Amino acid sequence: MEISGSIKDTREMVKAWKAKGLKVALVPTMGYLHEGHKSLIDRARTENDKVVVSIFVNPMQFGPGEDLDSYPRDLDRDAAICEKGGVDLIFHPEVEEMYGPDFCAYVDMHTLPEKLCGASRPVHFRGVQTVVSKLFHIIPADRAYFGQKDAQQLAIIRRMVIDLDFDIEIIGCPIIREEDGLAKSSRNTYLSGEERKQAVILNQSLEEAMKAIDAGETDAGKVKDIITKTIESCPLAKIDYVEVVSFDTIQPVEKVEGPVLIAIAVYIGTTRLIDNRILNA
Ligand code: AMP
Repeated sequence: MEISGSIKDTREMVKAWKAKGLKVALVPTMGYLHEGHKSLIDRARTENDKVVVSIFVNPMQFGPGEDLDSYPRDLDRDAAICEKGGVDLIFHPEVEEMYGPDFCAYVDMHTLPEKLCGASRPVHFRGVQTVVSKLFHIIPADRAYFGQKDAQQLAIIRRMVIDLDFDIEIIGCPIIREEDGLAKSSRNTYLSGEERKQAVILNQSLEEAMKAIDAGETDAGKVKDIITKTIESCPLAKIDYVEVVSFDTIQPVEKVEGPVLIAIAVYIGTTRLIDNRILNA
């Protein structure tokens, strides 16, 4: 396995594979890898000849006062996980390699980034769109793998690839959870013992919503009420948002029908966690 911090070397390696007719996969990450990332790597491994994992904590997608500086990092541990998972190349650039001193070009998008996480994190998706575009140019992969954990991000990347004609297939992969149902996340490491226990409320509230939907509930407002009440029963939880939106447009819907995303963001103490269910997609 190679580890490269150079855009030029990385692009040359990937181009050489492509010239031999090999299928190349990209798994973009911010590192501190867990079973969620690992599931993306495993799927990429089975479906392609070469797997590239990018590890880059992208400053552009963090707003002022967010956790850029404290975001967990451990390249040695990540490299061992990648090596074991059959990864061929880790692209791990310095910030200066990705953003030169005169950097001023961004990838913008309307509608899809405006609600949910975009409402509480106004610069986040512009940073994601820009860095993912750069990664797609640096690593001309055939397929890129993203988790449904970040469902709005997945919808945005799919839209971006269609609208800007990126020649890459986007594969969405299911959410990997802890045994008690908490979605795996690098940010779970911020939780204290008691917070970690109470963090299960995110998944539990979505389970309650699914029970109601399975029993025939289609009113999005009622589904939101069920989730909100469940979360509010938890002393350490504070809701950022509870939304029922179209998975295609990320705009609110009144009825749970067609491709629908039920998405929540909840503070457990000071840690902001997200979770979701995607229906009929
Ligand atoms: P991150 O390092 O948090 O930027 O995540 C990198 C990729 O891993 C994104 O496509 C995430 O959606 C995906 N991912 C993170 N957590 C999980 C999870 N628990 N299950 C599946 N995919 C995940």
